[in-house]
Amino acid sequence: MSKPTVILRRCPSYDVDRIRGIVREGLQSLGDLPRGRVLVKPNGVIAHRRFFPHAFTRPEFLDGVLGAVRDTAPDVQELAVGERCGITIPTRMVFAHAGWTRVVKRHRAKAYYFDEEPQVEVKLTREPRLRDFLYTPAPVARADYLINCPKFKAHPWTTVTFALKNFIGIQNDPDRLIDHDHRLDEKIADLQEIAQQRFIAIDAIEAGQDRMLTPVPFDLGLVIMGDNPVAVDATCCRMLGLDPAAIGHVRLAHEKGFGPLDEGEIALDGDVTLEQARGQAKGFRVGLIRVEKYFKDTRITALAGPPPEKVPGDYCWGGCPGAIEEAIEIVRQLDERADEKMKPLTVVFGGYEGPITPRAGEKVVFIGDCARWEGTLDGQPVKIESLYRDRGHHDPHRARADGIFMKMAKVFWSLFRRRKQRTLRAPGCPVSVAEHTLLLARLGGTRNPYFVPASAVPFMRAYVTSKVVRCFRRLFGMPARIRAALPEASPAPKSLPPASE
Ligand code: SF4
Repeated sequence: MSKPTVILRRCPSYDVDRIRGIVREGLQSLGDLPRGRVLVKPNGVIAHRRFFPHAFTRPEFLDGVLGAVRDTAPDVQELAVGERCGITIPTRMVFAHAGWTRVVKRHRAKAYYFDEEPQVEVKLTREPRLRDFLYTPAPVARADYLINCPKFKAHPWTTVTFALKNFIGIQNDPDRLIDHDHRLDEKIADLQEIAQQRFIAIDAIEAGQDRMLTPVPFDLGLVIMGDNPVAVDATCCRMLGLDPAAIGHVRLAHEKGFGPLDEGEIALDGDVTLEQARGQAKGFRVGLIRVEKYFKDTRITALAGPPPEKVPGDYCWGGCPGAIEEAIEIVRQLDERADEKMKPLTVVFGGYEGPITPRAGEKVVFIGDCARWEGTLDGQPVKIESLYRDRGHHDPHRARADGIFMKMAKVFWSLFRRRKQRTLRAPGCPVSVAEHTLLLARLGGTRNPYFVPASAVPFMRAYVTSKVVRCFRRLFGMPARIRAALPEASPAPKSLPPASE
């Protein structure tokens, strides 16, 4: 069997024709051309030209990839682009803001907004795993050929986000939030069993450093392609001087047999050597900063203890602490005076055991189900009990997630009820980025990002359209969640390497 291949190609700008040529050559050289139902999965976690310009796969890149598919496989049964964006935004809005809608139309492709599609149960068999099945949108389950097009970015939960991590977007919110906690790395490894990534093309022309929603742009000038997500991610890690075995989700995907980590087991190709790529990536800043440090020298005091289960570092890297880091950046992005306006606030995560010394009038918010603490506040004894329930209590068959207006109502009601109290609890496991954003904006006295005029009107339009489409489909089409996989679906990818590899 030939080695998985990673191709590094120089591409200094978002020139659509050049990207199209590079991807076409990549597809041809790997020799596994698109066929049947082709689904392209870009990264559109959030997109807005003004507020979030660097978080998503650029439309020029998507344009080049779709063009290359048309060039190499003109007779595919279906060419589609599908994604579920983040923070409770309707995905159709992100398609429009990312500039993908017009690109999709130009290539006569179909757009799948995964939050509006029926969700299909897919059984998992590889060990070890967190669950025996997962839900995924029907277009993912029935795709014959999946092309993954992530953006090369840093990430506060997983250090980096390349091909493997981009699979978080193949789940809709209710399923995505299950296990999005201190076991997130395992969840990402499990997701790889849902669908095989037959071709990967990473938008690494302008990479994103520091964070995932509001990354700082980094001129990397590369298109990175390959036929195996672990091999691609391991190579990207090496470019940044990271040991791929030290990046949890990459190591776990390797251990589950999804691909190799060792340099000797990966064939490198292209017009850029790994050494040259390392040179180009020099100075790139990855994520993974503990929340206490992240908020140092701000008006927010963050205190964190261990999550309820023993995990490396005794810290919940996949849940609430990372979510609040992303949330404060959203608040800053939409209100340039946010830091200046922000009222002092203490936030507490996990099993924190030290003292809490808030200033006069300052609220103390215990964030997440696992937050617990015992001590004295204002001379009074305070005991905060953990609400955490084992993950066995979360049944994906009955998974639900609140829409943004329900989240707003819950957050604002709980703040109103506790307006005269010193402490407050934000329940959930995890507490989502959207809830953190609402909480920070309200308690900090800054603008509510969901009501900023430049984005509120398109948001409302997309929200209402998305709701109407979903209702219509439920009434006249498939149910929202299907217990068994679609008859034509191929949920267990046939050509994945055997689990023992
Ligand atoms: S409640 Fe939050 S911090 Fe605690 S385990 Fe869940 S996601 Fe992690």
